[in-house]
Amino acid sequence: MYNIAVIPGDGIGPELTEAAIAVLEATGINCHWQVAEMGHGAWERYGNPVPAKTLATMRSSDASLKGPCTTVRGAPYRSANVTFRVELDLFASVRPCKAYPGVRTLFPGTDLVVIRGNTEDRAGGGQFPAGSPHTQAIIQAVRNAGKPIPLDAALSLAICTRAGTTRLARFAFNYARTNGRHKVTVGVKAGGASHMEILFWRVCEETSKEFPDIECENEAIDALCLQLVRRPQRFDVLLLPGGYGGLISDLCAGLVGGLGMAGGANYGDDLAVFEAAHGSAPKYAGLNKANPMALILSGALMLRHLGEARAADQVEAAVAAQVAEGQCLTYDVAPTSKAVRGTHEVADELAKRIRRSTNKTARL
Ligand code: NAD
Repeated sequence: MYNIAVIPGDGIGPELTEAAIAVLEATGINCHWQVAEMGHGAWERYGNPVPAKTLATMRSSDASLKGPCTTVRGAPYRSANVTFRVELDLFASVRPCKAYPGVRTLFPGTDLVVIRGNTEDRAGGGQFPAGSPHTQAIIQAVRNAGKPIPLDAALSLAICTRAGTTRLARFAFNYARTNGRHKVTVGVKAGGASHMEILFWRVCEETSKEFPDIECENEAIDALCLQLVRRPQRFDVLLLPGGYGGLISDLCAGLVGGLGMAGGANYGDDLAVFEAAHGSAPKYAGLNKANPMALILSGALMLRHLGEARAADQVEAAVAAQVAEGQCLTYDVAPTSKAVRGTHEVADELAKRIRRSTNKTARL
């Protein structure tokens, strides 16, 4: 029995987590699902988008399955997503981008993984809480120089440390090694855009020497954007700082059928949280319309993380088969309007497929 924290989140999150749990349970996995609140709704109810109780539940669980959380622009709180990743020190975000045969894409055969930093650069470092030592040090330095921050300018802090980059790079090379991948492409503007990016590339390159079996290359971030929309098949694992990583991983989701197909995970040394790449798509909330496959594929990553490789294979095979058949899919990936079904119908069909494959294996 696994203890799994479930965060329904906001917008389409609750219906997607319900759908994902139904599909994961079809594999026969034995889980205790402990629901915990996070996001804009939690802020409205408790005045805190990431209540301490939620973090405690996530810390004490074997893994967490998380729906998307809304960040209202200009809201008086720090994004729930940044907060839980920083608070739980989930330093690496992993987003596999695979074009399943049958999905509409200009790039069949794309199968790459985006790994980005979660806790430095803009993803974490740029958003340190006001009281953090980094923020305080910078504000103090500006004050000391007799130059208060002017009201018509903003200072955004992006940080890169050798320690933080080394553990992220080790994670990425290890990921490549243990997942049958051969090349890691580091995307930064190494030609001199910023000290931060030069340090990021230098540390990644140094760390790559510990992994002589994995090729390491640098692609300038602008050239990487160009190459990704011309020949994404040439990439294997992309390793990016948080800011670029957030943009490139959405671009890569677009290469393989859209956000509805892009699962993901956040890993730390001891904890892991599994969530789709997409957000809470408020306009589709409660309409039984959004694609549950991204969260279901995130659930497959969770099963793999728990050591349930057979169950993970079953879930991924069911998604692949359903997409290839093209008869029961949500609006964003269905090949014809006749094939369009709702969130729950798609999930029910996946669960049936998984049960059929289990029964077939049992009979053999
Ligand atoms: P979004 O990903 O929620 O939606 C963008 C568009 O993508 C949607 O309008 C829809 O057309 C499509 N889409 C997204 N998910 C889909 C799905 N499962 N099935 C079908 N179509 C889907 O991005 P947004 O509109 O920029 O953000 C909405 C909210 O989500 C914001 O408050 C944002 O902060 C938040 N957000 C949360 C996360 C997270 O929790 N990890 C990630 C990104 C954005």
